[in-house]
Amino acid sequence: MMQNKILIANRGEIALRIIRACKELGIGCVAIYSNSDENSLHVKFADEAICVGPAHASESYLNMNNIISAAVSTGCNAIHPGYGFLAENDKFATIVEKCNLKFIGPTSDAMAKLGNKSMARRIAKEVDIPIVEGSDGPVEDLAAAITVAKHIGYPILIKAVSGGGGKGISIIKNEEELVRLFDLTRHEAEANFGNSQVYIEKYIENPRHIEVQIIADAYGNMVHLGERDCSIQRRNQKMIEEAPSPFVNEKLRGMLGAAAVRLARAVGYQNIGTVEFLVDKDGNYYFMEVNARIQVEHPVTEMVTGVDLVKEQIRIAYRSELPFRQEDVNLSGHALECRLNAEDPSLNFRPAPGLIRNVVLPGGPGVRLDTHIYNNYEVPPYYDSLLVKLITYAPTRKETIRKMRVALEQLIVDGVKTNIEILYLIMHNTNFVRGVYDTGFVRDFLETIKGE
Ligand code: ADP
Ligand code: ADP
Ligand code: MG
Repeated sequence: MMQNKILIANRGEIALRIIRACKELGIGCVAIYSNSDENSLHVKFADEAICVGPAHASESYLNMNNIISAAVSTGCNAIHPGYGFLAENDKFATIVEKCNLKFIGPTSDAMAKLGNKSMARRIAKEVDIPIVEGSDGPVEDLAAAITVAKHIGYPILIKAVSGGGGKGISIIKNEEELVRLFDLTRHEAEANFGNSQVYIEKYIENPRHIEVQIIADAYGNMVHLGERDCSIQRRNQKMIEEAPSPFVNEKLRGMLGAAAVRLARAVGYQNIGTVEFLVDKDGNYYFMEVNARIQVEHPVTEMVTGVDLVKEQIRIAYRSELPFRQEDVNLSGHALECRLNAEDPSLNFRPAPGLIRNVVLPGGPGVRLDTHIYNNYEVPPYYDSLLVKLITYAPTRKETIRKMRVALEQLIVDGVKTNIEILYLIMHNTNFVRGVYDTGFVRDFLETIKGE
């Protein structure tokens, strides 16, 4: 029988995370890399590594032909896409399937349905999941946009149907702004995501971002693994995440979980995924989007459930049955994740690549680090600026925060500018500590410290 072997179509910390899962499962793994990543740890730690092109992602980590060739020529029978890059590209998933390789993720069909954010809204509505008021499908021109906006009232958001990573979202406060920004937003969507389609949503003031992890095998077993609160965001991009959410009670957890599973069932979802919701002060929830892939913040769910999500993704792709049922899922303890990025807070968080001279990593019980950096590692300017995911886990939220404070004090990354101080200050903020926060928290917080 052919030996299982996986090509990892990614880089950075998530490539390392997947390599570890492969090794623990006794499955072979092949790394891919660009010219600027030759000295990366994922290249060193994989069983084999193959260069797929120049530094720019469009020519390497997004180069479907080279990636498929790399998989075939090294005898892989599956591809793990990680997050970002090709992870939610249904065209890529289709090609992978056509080449008789397993795509470690949902089927291309389910991905096509949910990857389009506007179509996903429609499916959610069909299965009675509340959605944010907005356009019924994509909005084709300015006149249509004005009509929708008049109907729901300002402020509104224009969102790229293929957007992601907090990009492709514009807030519009009045008709004049809509006239000025509609075509611009479409052009930006085309340039960034290769799809100019946009849709409109009512802008909800200071909601919480609460998302549900789901997991489903090829035999119709579908389970949710509780929620993550990702409301600590800067410009719609997550910065700190936690599980469980300090805002969610048993009843709301049950409702969100049931809604997430219902949506997944509607498209015959397989593998793991995340259903994102906005939740208002009164606990009303609205479907936002599905991330049909492993997420950056998956470790917090792993800590509180004891489920290794990446190993399960691989087992499911090789057609193992889910080893637990909904009633077997127990949430225990509390987990926090801080994203340490190479960015300069004094220059509006501009990415700050460069040479990392010295790294000291914290440890101890309940401290987890997912990172690809090391002494004298050069952070390339071409990719995402995530350096370290620092995760802490303890029986209570309070202890988890204390652990995070200590871990941040003992985390040293010299040579590049990072957001570490902001993370540290948030861990000491009274409202954060009380669990009283929403997606407006970081904006307000930065205003306060600017004044000091
Ligand atoms: P998560 O939902 O897992 O927190 P993020 O939103 O932080 O994920 O995105 C993870 C990575 O994937 C980032 O590098 C982000 O820029 C990238 N990404 C996510 N969605 C898209 C997309 N549709 N197009 C391009 N890049 C994306
Ligand atoms: P992405 O694909 O980039 O993750 P999302 O649709 O998930 O985009 O939105 C990213 C973030 O933008 C959310 O977590 C939330 O903070 C904010 N957001 C999105 N839609 C709305 C909305 N209708 N009202 C208020 N905030 C929103
Ligand atoms: Mg999102």
